[in-house]
Amino acid sequence: MTRSTRDTRRNRVYAAEALVWNMFERADQLPGRQVEIFGSRVTLPIERRVVSLESMQTYVDTVLALETVRSRYKRARIPVTVRARRGQSRAHYEYPTATIAMPLHNRSMLREFVLLHEIAHHLQPLGSPGHGRQFCKILCHLVELAIGAEAAWLLHATLADTQADHS
Ligand SMILES: [Zn+2]
Repeated sequence: MTRSTRDTRRNRVYAAEALVWNMFERADQLPGRQVEIFGSRVTLPIERRVVSLESMQTYVDTVLALETVRSRYKRARIPVTVRARRGQSRAHYEYPTATIAMPLHNRSMLREFVLLHEIAHHLQPLGSPGHGRQFCKILCHLVELAIGAEAAWLLHATLADTQADHS
């Protein structure tokens, strides 16, 4: 998040993500990982669980080293440091130091989706709103590359659904 722009869409993105994470947890319990979403039957891929700082660092380094990521995002060449964050809070990205802070004691946050969310913050250009359209586009792209097309489709559809202005 930057100081100059209001981050009005953050809660909507969080809500969409919570729905997607629930879907993945449901798929874990189901034979064939098939779930029904927006009227479609979809086989969800497996989301990796990353629990140690070392595995998170390796994961982030690997995503940033992907050719597709390097060629599309200028900031992919800036290395990211993963550090531990105290308490039960959410993960957090610190733009000035390119640091991802992960709450190691909050197991619900120790997942691939969360790391990709923070990497998307790293890749977004300075000045773009924290959780705006550009952020969502980067996040869906990363999810597609790292978890799979069905995961990206689900996230995209859920984001579109929660971001539509019903008011
Ligand atoms: Zn965020």
